[in-house]
Amino acid sequence: MERYDRAWASVDLDAFLHNLYGIKETLKEGTSVIGVIKADGYGHGALPLAAEMEKLAFVSGYAVATVEEGIALRCAGMKKKILLLGYTFPSAYPQLAQYDLSAAAFTDEMAAEMNRAALLAGKKIGVHIAVDTGMSRIGVRPDEEGAAFVKRLASMPCLRLEGIFTHFARADEADKTRTWEQLRTFRAFVDRLKKDGLSIPLCHCSNSAGILDLPEANLDAVRAGIILYGLWPSDEVDHEKIRLKPVLSLYSRIAFVKELKAGQEISYGGTYRTDRTLRVATVPIGYGDGYPRQLSNRGQVLICGKRARILGRVCMDQFMADVTDIPEAAVGSLVTLIGRDGAEEIAMEELGALSGRFNYELACCLNKRVPRIYLKEGRILSV
Ligand SMILES: *Cc1c(COP(=O)(O)O)cnc(C)c1O
Repeated sequence: MERYDRAWASVDLDAFLHNLYGIKETLKEGTSVIGVIKADGYGHGALPLAAEMEKLAFVSGYAVATVEEGIALRCAGMKKKILLLGYTFPSAYPQLAQYDLSAAAFTDEMAAEMNRAALLAGKKIGVHIAVDTGMSRIGVRPDEEGAAFVKRLASMPCLRLEGIFTHFARADEADKTRTWEQLRTFRAFVDRLKKDGLSIPLCHCSNSAGILDLPEANLDAVRAGIILYGLWPSDEVDHEKIRLKPVLSLYSRIAFVKELKAGQEISYGGTYRTDRTLRVATVPIGYGDGYPRQLSNRGQVLICGKRARILGRVCMDQFMADVTDIPEAAVGSLVTLIGRDGAEEIAMEELGALSGRFNYELACCLNKRVPRIYLKEGRILSV
């Protein structure tokens, strides 16, 4: 790892697989997992994760947000189904056909345009009907008109109706009233379609919070996102159901150590002023890497197994930390920004809360400047 002294993230594929198998254990026979790897696998890197899932029969496919994310998976050789979860603009429909990507559909315009693009390409396009049961984001209403739409779509010759899904807005809350309502509404809609002679192969509604707390919502498939990465959808879900292992750790190394006398200001704006002599380390990672500036004067990092607080503002590429009580800290010492060092651990959740973001957002924010190192069975698999 000598080449990655400044800043790097390790992505533990064993932990990823541990989480994935943990999810599988909770599912009933016949429910498959759709691996949600949008936003480059929540910042972890979608391709190496998909490569792991590709071999597993209980993973029925991947879900991403954009056509570019889907194409990247296909071009990397992934053969499983790939579903685009959001609205896909018509300009991308030829690519759906070309790269065999399935898309959410929920308006007649979308269906007609997709059908036309598929006809032109000479290849069917797979669609999943998005049903809005309370998220008010995308989807058809689960009513008379919605059912008529599904029927029209099902009769389009160049579309392959592969699935139907809805998305929970509040499954991560302790109070599941709204989620039960959404599930009931979705099931009633699917039943109604079935009575009308339309059975759709793959019904799915659970996200991570649903998987943990609402086994009844695990239908033909579940869409597992955040828990794949060993992170919790919220504090309110059952943390005992699956033993999750965080997948990503973020590291740097101390670049400089100095002593500051009382009365010295640290970093832009002089927002921290020493009140006694302090030993201060400079850590060469910053918000230019996606490490939140909101952690200025608030965050902590781990150095030699101990917590060191951040002093002053986080800059684009560097920040300062208090190592007064860590005499072993020296230039080159490992700095753990997310992850474990000895008995101490800084979880993505902790930093998410401290920085006023949340764990999902924080993971996505770590950017391209931070190399990802993929570990499997203790060895570096790829970079
Ligand atoms: C992002 C997303 C998911 C995954 O959510 P998690 O909370 O990360 O499990 C599932 N379904 C849809 C439609 C999504 O947009």
